Amino acid sequence: MNVKDSEHIIAELSDEYEITQNPENADLILLNTCSVREKPVQKLFSELGALNKKNPNAKFGVCGCTASHMGKEIIKRAPFVSFVLGARNVSRIKEALNTPKAVITDLDYDETTYVFKNTRKNPYKDFINIMVGCDKKCSYCIVPKTRGKELSIPMDLIIGQIEKLAAEGVKEITLLGQNVNNYGKRFSVSHPKVDFTDLLREVSKIDGIERIRFTSPHPLHADDRFLEEFANNPKICKHIHFPLQSGSTKLLKAMRRGYSKEWFLNRCEIIRQIPDVSITTDIIVGFPGESEEDFEETMDVLEKVRFEQIFSFVYSPRPLTEAADMPNQVDKQVAKERLYRLQKRHAEILDEIAKNQIGKIYKVLIEEPGMGKSDNFFTVKIPQKDKYLGEIVDVKITNANKHTLSGEVVK
Ligand code: SF4
Repeated sequence: MNVKDSEHIIAELSDEYEITQNPENADLILLNTCSVREKPVQKLFSELGALNKKNPNAKFGVCGCTASHMGKEIIKRAPFVSFVLGARNVSRIKEALNTPKAVITDLDYDETTYVFKNTRKNPYKDFINIMVGCDKKCSYCIVPKTRGKELSIPMDLIIGQIEKLAAEGVKEITLLGQNVNNYGKRFSVSHPKVDFTDLLREVSKIDGIERIRFTSPHPLHADDRFLEEFANNPKICKHIHFPLQSGSTKLLKAMRRGYSKEWFLNRCEIIRQIPDVSITTDIIVGFPGESEEDFEETMDVLEKVRFEQIFSFVYSPRPLTEAADMPNQVDKQVAKERLYRLQKRHAEILDEIAKNQIGKIYKVLIEEPGMGKSDNFFTVKIPQKDKYLGEIVDVKITNANKHTLSGEVVK
């Protein structure tokens, strides 16, 4: 979502500015920030200082989630910063730019009917926001405090934008939101009752759109209707990013995730019935109160689901979150050692998964010369660098390692 926000900002300013790779020559330097973990927040001020040294004449703006939660504190700590623009206020970039020392961090701001300028970088695929904010209260997460309450973007606006992209040659669309499968819970305008499954069906009717992806669905809202649509709609790519966070039901409760280990495993069992489906996930290790037994529950889910990819981190306490004040914080060394074990075991699983890919035939959208993504989200290389660009081709896999597959085009 941050990448998409950055693209929106760039597009909004495209009539006045052009991109430079050289900060020394820039008139304007924008830092779009994340606050999900602690490190990027620390990096913000060192990065600001270094950039200001390189180019003291530039105008500086800080955007994104850290802007939302730190607000004017950023200008206090780095007085050369000209404005601060929260993650919920991307469409107000010009207002921020033209208001001295602007601090625009309005969490109730409604961007859902604002249509951003075209941001497409790749001619064949694009990402499209379907909602803003998040209503969940996961006890470790700062996002609801930086992106505000959940609002869905009206369906006709989404469909209209995708139709336009399809007419321009886009074949693959990724629907973006904090909890995409909670789409339709709340709109800021009067709107017929629809849910994410309805949206998927409507998007798949658009001529020219051949592949639909989405990220991220919440396991809690992965009901049978949604999973059936995912399995049976041929335009929906057979890859699901399904954030587990922990395999321990006790910890999932403390995290306020709203589902149990059994529910997660049951959903994955249904998903795994789809041929060649990929399941990827996020895992937090060392959440407050995590015992060795709790960690073993996470390892157990890893063994059972055999995720095609995991994004795993040691728990990072965030300000304004419930978990940061929990008394039973886990020793950092213990958490690091568990993370190591998790990643080591996952690397072995990946080796096995890679070996199983040899001989398979996947549909691959060739996005750049000699490379593309399979329907189920593997990066696939082909020898031809001057052919098939923008086409969806059948590739027979002849070689595989943990990160990349390679093969020959067979159709
Ligand atoms: S669902 Fe939970 S983890 Fe995801 S953004 Fe919302 S509060 Fe954060």
